[in-house]
Amino acid sequence: MHVLPKRNGIQHARRESDSTQVVQNVILAPVRITRLFIAATVLVACTPRPATAPVPKPTIIPHSAWEATPPVGFAADATRRNKAPGDSLSFHDLRVGVLSTRTDSTGAKPVDIAKLKLTLGDKSEERDAREGSAFNWNGYHVAIVAVYGPGELGGGLAAIEIGTIASLPPQIANSDSAGGAAMRLRIRHNITHITLHHEGDAQPLRPDDDVPKKLRALYSWGASDRNWWDVPYHFLLDTKGNIYEGRDYHYMGETNTTYDPSGHFLITAIGNYNKQEATPETLNAIADLMAWAVSEFDVPLDNIKGHYNYADTDCPGKYLRKYLEDGTFRRMVEERLARKKKVGG
Ligand SMILES: [Zn+2]
Repeated sequence: MHVLPKRNGIQHARRESDSTQVVQNVILAPVRITRLFIAATVLVACTPRPATAPVPKPTIIPHSAWEATPPVGFAADATRRNKAPGDSLSFHDLRVGVLSTRTDSTGAKPVDIAKLKLTLGDKSEERDAREGSAFNWNGYHVAIVAVYGPGELGGGLAAIEIGTIASLPPQIANSDSAGGAAMRLRIRHNITHITLHHEGDAQPLRPDDDVPKKLRALYSWGASDRNWWDVPYHFLLDTKGNIYEGRDYHYMGETNTTYDPSGHFLITAIGNYNKQEATPETLNAIADLMAWAVSEFDVPLDNIKGHYNYADTDCPGKYLRKYLEDGTFRRMVEERLARKKKVGG
């Protein structure tokens, strides 16, 4: 919007005849700049920006209050995705294509292998990469975190992590093993979306369930089964409206599907919302958190969605999905933004 008056100014100047151009440039330039400045100021001042009104951060139960061990991993200039054969992952000027995945059963122990095609400028190379291996290629470190076989969660997908060698600690940069959770990279992101999930547990969450114990179980399953450096979500909620801190929201979350979680503020309701209705306490806590995130990161209300909007999944379950689709969460968030705006003037 700010460039509009400037563009008009340039077009206007182009229409002026050459003979008057020099004189006008000398005499009128300061006037024009002042006008532009006023126009830009008015535009900014008149643009309604409800999303920037401060909304209080809801009370959060800190990670340290439920964890058995603190999160691991290293911050780096990196990316990580689950990719299906035929798909590719681009990072800076590198592209890693997954041509195919297969299981090699010729050895004593079957090994899952991803056939990759690496491309950077006019350089290109195909190579077989074993699950759990890592290699360096033209300034990049590529780790094959997992190749999920048939029947496994994420079957057919390859979990690939790429970092610039320059941004990595030496023990990762020099490793030919992808390693487990402790060797994963923390990927900074700018939050642009708010995405609701549910845990999808076999059983609904009951009020007397031990929630910290469930969180510790999620953490250790994520670390051992998925090589995640922390729980996959940024915040996790119970049926009483308690909000538990998950992964540091400055870093990208995780998924078992193929969508790109970078930029997504991940909220999950513990339990199974295909099997249980949300309590008013849970709904209010979700809305409080969403409203805070909208305000804190300037997230457009249209970007409040569910996991199912981005991947082949029914997450966050039909009993939460209905509130995304009938506008309930949007209305609750708008109420919270308006409430704070009135108080703050
Ligand atoms: Zn989900």
